[in-house]
Amino acid sequence: MFATPDWTAARKALARWYRGAQRDLPWRRTSEPYPIWVSEVMLQQTRVAAALPYYVRFLERFPTVEALAEAPEQELLSVWSGLGYYSRARNMQKAARQVVALGGFPRTFEGLRALAGIGDYTAAALASICFGLPHAVLDGNVMRVLARLLADPGDVTSPTTRRRLAAAAQEFLHRRHPAEHNQAIMELGALVCLPREPDCPRCPLRPHCHAHAEGRAREFPVKLRKQEKVEVALTVFVVERAGKLLLWQRPEGGGRMAGFWELPSADSLPGAGAHEVLRRFRHTITHQVHDVCVRRASIARAPRGFTWVALARLREMPLSTIARKALGERP
Ligand code: SF4
Repeated sequence: MFATPDWTAARKALARWYRGAQRDLPWRRTSEPYPIWVSEVMLQQTRVAAALPYYVRFLERFPTVEALAEAPEQELLSVWSGLGYYSRARNMQKAARQVVALGGFPRTFEGLRALAGIGDYTAAALASICFGLPHAVLDGNVMRVLARLLADPGDVTSPTTRRRLAAAAQEFLHRRHPAEHNQAIMELGALVCLPREPDCPRCPLRPHCHAHAEGRAREFPVKLRKQEKVEVALTVFVVERAGKLLLWQRPEGGGRMAGFWELPSADSLPGAGAHEVLRRFRHTITHQVHDVCVRRASIARAPRGFTWVALARLREMPLSTIARKALGERP
């Protein structure tokens, strides 16, 4: 590893770049904690372009933290449906109820960190962006930028490396402008210091970047433990009758997808007649790649555990992402 970069000069260069390059995004037009929190949770799992329509719809349906606290769970899951990681939506509602009980969002990192589902990253983002507190964020984008700036040889999946990068992020932080600084480094990771194609010629941090100086930008961050992808073949049936569709609901208490509605799999309807293939697609959940074949099917009598649901009701129901894709909806 090289010596520490000149953080003061790098900080100034980053701030100058951000003022000219930042994207105009709805959550950047406010410093209210509620909409910023919603955006931060959504962006942990989804790209900005994909998250935008969900963000707008979510705030239309639940415009305040009180509205989110009181929402029926099925409605909440329906609005979240397609974003995945449903435990995050449930935790958001728990945290919303805590915020309502407290009479407002806590104004310290520790207070925010104590809310359901809020980890170090979200607490630092809210503390800095909403309350101007000097807490550096450390997400995947920031870790990549810092690992490259420092040419850090450590495995970024290891807690030791994360701690070292967290300390570097805190040192790099502009303590008088933490909101702008945190957003700037995340924006740099999203627009310039990209995972596969870092655009070093356009990067304001190039004079301070050790990985670039070594010509090894693509080699960082180092990831030693790569989980193998597992292929899973799945056939699901679209069984329609008299304007209704055959579905089943995942039971309450049944893990992160509890309460969601699914199409029957071929295995669960052994008595069904399988007809034409409607579509095929691939869907990745963590390290599993589902190779999904969707067939029209018919059945004389629905077995126990299945429900005929009116097609007109489908849009209000929390369908799993696989079910939505299988029905030809864009998730
Ligand atoms: Fe990333 Fe290249 Fe900028 Fe270094 S110079 S921070 S590798 S984009």
